Amino acid sequence: MNVLISGASIAGPVLAYWLARSGFEVTVVERAPMLRKTGGHAIDLFRPAMEISERMGVLERIEAHATGTTLLTINRPPSTRPAHIDYVKLIAAMSDRHVEIMRDDLSQIYYDAARHCAEFRFGDQITDIAEDGTVRFAGGTTERFDVIVGADGLHSGVRQLVFGEHVQESFLGGYLSVVSVPKALAYQRQMVGFYAPRRIAMVYTAEHLDDARAVFLFRPEQPLDYDHRDVVRQQRQLCSAFADLAPEVDAWLGEVEHTPAFYFDAITQLQMDTWSRGRVTLVGDAGYCPGPAVGGSTSLAVYGAYVLATEMARAGDDYGSAFANYERTMAAPVAGSRTLARINARTIVPGSPLGVKALVGGARVISLLPTGLTQSMARLNPKGVRLYDTMPLPA
Ligand SMILES: Cc1cc2nc3c(=O)[nH]c(=O)nc-3n(C[C@H](O)[C@H](O)[C@H](O)COP(=O)(O)OP(=O)(O)OC[C@H]3O[C@@H](n4cnc5c(N)ncnc54)[C@H](O)[C@@H]3O)c2cc1C
Repeated sequence: MNVLISGASIAGPVLAYWLARSGFEVTVVERAPMLRKTGGHAIDLFRPAMEISERMGVLERIEAHATGTTLLTINRPPSTRPAHIDYVKLIAAMSDRHVEIMRDDLSQIYYDAARHCAEFRFGDQITDIAEDGTVRFAGGTTERFDVIVGADGLHSGVRQLVFGEHVQESFLGGYLSVVSVPKALAYQRQMVGFYAPRRIAMVYTAEHLDDARAVFLFRPEQPLDYDHRDVVRQQRQLCSAFADLAPEVDAWLGEVEHTPAFYFDAITQLQMDTWSRGRVTLVGDAGYCPGPAVGGSTSLAVYGAYVLATEMARAGDDYGSAFANYERTMAAPVAGSRTLARINARTIVPGSPLGVKALVGGARVISLLPTGLTQSMARLNPKGVRLYDTMPLPA
């Protein structure tokens, strides 16, 4: 069977690796001219994604690229007394197998694992998919594939071609932006944040990075008049949302216009009941993005790619039953991640000074208590912050 995957970021290369291992002939088409290294911030890999990476033989490399953040310093202007939080203990309460890594590094590692067993074509994209699997590419060629998988993210082209424009999306009320800034603006092993109602700005770096990343999360009173392709307008909207928060934040914003890497997206959740049609299915953000930065979308993408590859390997030519089993296995994890993301979108960026105080106070308490105790407390709610650690891995 020959399989075409659209998108070479996280879900695409993981799926390509596992399908090729099971004897499928795999082609990956990526719209960008090369692997996208256009910014993005640190993402969390939780237990199942760690185990899948271990089975791929890339866990050591992933751990070697961990951000290594150990301290979170939170400033709440106008107060001049920052709160210091043990970041390792904070994360340990959520997961007992976890790594924080830059999205770009992770994408490169998965790509390196897959590129020897699958064909990667950069700078091209699918423009049409016929029912018999005939695919037309923007580059002018036409080819037939048995199965086509959209791993092309929140704004998936495959999803638009197969399901149309009217897929239900819910805007979770916030925006995420990541800006590359000079390394001198950050501190080694420390994330420094400025918190105010409806807006949070943070900066951090990692030893192996040449730059630092400023991360902005905000929930304006009214949704922005926003276009996900209009970068200049997004940059203006970001600067106006964070004006006058703190002089340090002004310095990060001063980099926006000439930053080499800028990421901006609305925190949007996809609400599809099914993500397969005919010989086409979706994986990762393309099918079930819980919302960037709030719902563990990267771990879910790795997990989904692995489950899909497992079901396709089991079903052989019968891709219809593979897709049905894939959707059945993913139903609970996807539903759980949607709920978690909706809660996180409200709590991570509180709407009031009291909310900010409660968030920072809660983080301080977790960082002071013994990890065993906070883990036991978190385990009381398997659908809460430990959701990902409880997802079962197929054999
Ligand atoms: C540059 C970038 C920066 C990001 N930064 C963050 C971040 O800071 N925080 C966060 O929470 N999430 C971020 N994300 C999203 C995060 O990577 C995903 O939520 C998650 O990892 C799931 O991965 P995915 O492979 O399903 O989708 P994505 O990582 O979104 O990857 C989709 C891939 O498909 C490609 N693509 C898109 N359209 C087409 C098309 N029509 N044809 C072919 N290829 C196409 C894209 O170029 C991309 O390589 C970022 C994504 C990208 C692409």
